[in-house]
Amino acid sequence: MTLDARRLAYLSALEIDVWERRELPRPSVGPAPAPIAPQPAESPAVPRADEPVGEVAALGWDDLVARVRGCTLCPLHATRTQSVFGVGNRAAQWMVIGEAPGAEEDRQGEPFVGRAGQLLNSMLKAMGLAREQVFIANILKSRPPNNRDPRPEEVRACIPYLFRQIELVNPTLLLCVGRIAAQTLLETSEPIGKLRGVVHRIAGNRPMIVTYHPAYLLRSPGEKRKAWADLVLAMRTYARLQEGAR
Ligand code: URA
Repeated sequence: MTLDARRLAYLSALEIDVWERRELPRPSVGPAPAPIAPQPAESPAVPRADEPVGEVAALGWDDLVARVRGCTLCPLHATRTQSVFGVGNRAAQWMVIGEAPGAEEDRQGEPFVGRAGQLLNSMLKAMGLAREQVFIANILKSRPPNNRDPRPEEVRACIPYLFRQIELVNPTLLLCVGRIAAQTLLETSEPIGKLRGVVHRIAGNRPMIVTYHPAYLLRSPGEKRKAWADLVLAMRTYARLQEGAR
């Protein structure tokens, strides 16, 4: 496949419209230029308490799954249908981190299965990744009622599970989707626009790229090009890390 054909396939997987002028010989990508990836920059490595604590730090997969399934550490256990542990390849190179289960995820027990999940799958496909290749998890394992934002005490109770998942998967790159997840993981109130375009380091100095939440992209399709730029940054960062590991 030529580079332009590949780019076209990427853009169409992301459902980004490609405009072509009829009177000209068929250009592979129309006048709207492919988004330019931001230059990778490293955010300062700030020491953080972002590793699993207490007993959770020693749990293997089976015990962690069981612990999350029966967790009653925050009041959300009373309103959830079931907890949503996470899904995918437990030895994945890429790990996607979202915010919390929504109604469909609460029903099915799997993250990102609604419309936003379908767009996430397209975003992964645009990077040449199948959903089954990556590991997908949320900060909260239980659905907040009416999809409200997670509360600090819920995050405090639940986030050690995520950090243990990150340790167990040991991915090369984390892809954080959405403002809430990014602000929570980076312990900041900076807007997502300021958190994109940078390689952050969390959970034991692991690289993380921030992009928009697919649910936001469904509401604001005009932002998909920026999301594509984030994915290009993620792919370049991953390639750079692979190169460095050789
Ligand atoms: N939004 C998220 O952040 N996570 C899900 O699992 C579903 C929607």
